[in-house]
Amino acid sequence: MIAPKYNNNLWTNTAAAPLALDAFTGELNVDLIIIGGGFTGCAAALEAAQRGLSVVLLEAQSIGYGGSGRNVGLVNAGLWTPPDDVESTLGQAAGQKLNAALASAPDLVFSLIEKHQINCDAVRNGTLHCAHSSPGLKDLHSRFTQQKKRNAPVELISRDATCQRTGSDTFEGALFDPRAGTIQPLSYCQGLAQAAITKGAKLFENSPALSIERQLEQWQVKTQNGMATAPNLIVATNAYSNDQLLGQQARFTLVHYFQFATEPLTDKERETVLPNLEGCWDTALVMSSFRYDRDGRLLVGSVGSLDHAASTTHEFWAQKKLAAIYPQLAHKKLDHAWHGRIAMTHDHLPKLVEFGPNAYSVFGYSGRGIGPGTVFGTSLAQMIATGDETHLPMPPISEYSEQFTKMAGLYYETGSVLTHASFAAGRSLIGR
Ligand SMILES: Cc1cc2nc3c(=O)[nH]c(=O)nc-3n(C[C@H](O)[C@H](O)[C@H](O)COP(=O)(O)OP(=O)(O)OC[C@H]3O[C@@H](n4cnc5c(N)ncnc54)[C@H](O)[C@@H]3O)c2cc1C
Repeated sequence: MIAPKYNNNLWTNTAAAPLALDAFTGELNVDLIIIGGGFTGCAAALEAAQRGLSVVLLEAQSIGYGGSGRNVGLVNAGLWTPPDDVESTLGQAAGQKLNAALASAPDLVFSLIEKHQINCDAVRNGTLHCAHSSPGLKDLHSRFTQQKKRNAPVELISRDATCQRTGSDTFEGALFDPRAGTIQPLSYCQGLAQAAITKGAKLFENSPALSIERQLEQWQVKTQNGMATAPNLIVATNAYSNDQLLGQQARFTLVHYFQFATEPLTDKERETVLPNLEGCWDTALVMSSFRYDRDGRLLVGSVGSLDHAASTTHEFWAQKKLAAIYPQLAHKKLDHAWHGRIAMTHDHLPKLVEFGPNAYSVFGYSGRGIGPGTVFGTSLAQMIATGDETHLPMPPISEYSEQFTKMAGLYYETGSVLTHASFAAGRSLIGR
């Protein structure tokens, strides 16, 4: 059970245009059924509807209820896994294709925002991946070299320049990526949904898909009061999926990530903190992120869940971390707190599974899903509309499962609590 003070999502409170969609009732026969109303599902619905397909999207709660309405809002290029590792895991050709598709993911996100006039506080001033230590700086050097090999416009910036850009002297340097930016993620997701509706897609909230069956070469999806039938199906439930729906074993480890937001900074304070509004995260093993929202609140986040007895440890950490990076903000009240689930795969790469004829499940963005979710959703719809699999950023596999996911989840949570407790107590355990 989550305490109300840890269930106060800034993005829900500041969403530009919340939707209030009907629940699904009755029967519909369409070209494509989509289960899940996050970035992946909504981007797929929009692209499919634009290409003239009839679409039903079923969302169990509300549009953006999952990771899409809870994340940091860093629209980054590529995956968290460096591109060389992607190629060595997938093989050169497949790895190159995925790297190229995701390198241009921010272009796709920001072009959709512009094209559909999505009001989501988009700021494309780049992101700073900040080195929290000398090994962290070494990691950034390696990422820089790999990105440069692929002609990415990234810059490695010095300790002094990082100090100027962030307003903090705690980092050894940073990797700046001008392709990236920040958004209000829930507003972006709701904007994609609204654009899909405008193009003719039928989207429903409070409509959990309860079963998926194959009948007469069609997919039949039942909700409590309705049934949709279609030749094509996309399951885009990611970390919020119910494994029973697909009758599958565990496919990823659930990792939690929390955020706290300060009260708005004064104009004077804002002059000293991230004057150019970049989104930031660091190189620590238990990573941290920080960015502004549109009202000048600073958001600080890290790995961990706020639904257990040790949640206060994460809160103490957030207050101390804020004071460590920005001593002038030590007195700031944290007035929003929330967390969300990340679907982390063993190799930290997304999985695209074709679990039946023209039925796809995509998951495992491993904490980097704004660009990838938009790319995978869009390209799946393109492929379904045209029958051309080359649209996909990676070839589908027929099944996927992982072992020891519960244990791994416990490991992540215990590790983050210990790291944050140690930091809050003034000692460094793993990183800072
Ligand atoms: C706290 C946090 C911070 C993050 N920060 C970033 C970041 O800064 N940058 C970045 O790129 N990525 C980030 N991510 C990752 C990113 O948010 C996710 O990868 C992305 O939102 C996944 O989108 P999705 O559409 O695939 O899934 P989701 O947004 O999780 O949507 C899945 C939806 O499926 C619905 N659903 C589940 N079961 C059913 C059912 N049976 N029937 C109908 N609907 C169902 C759920 O209610 C949910 O709304 C972060 C994630 C978290 C949690």
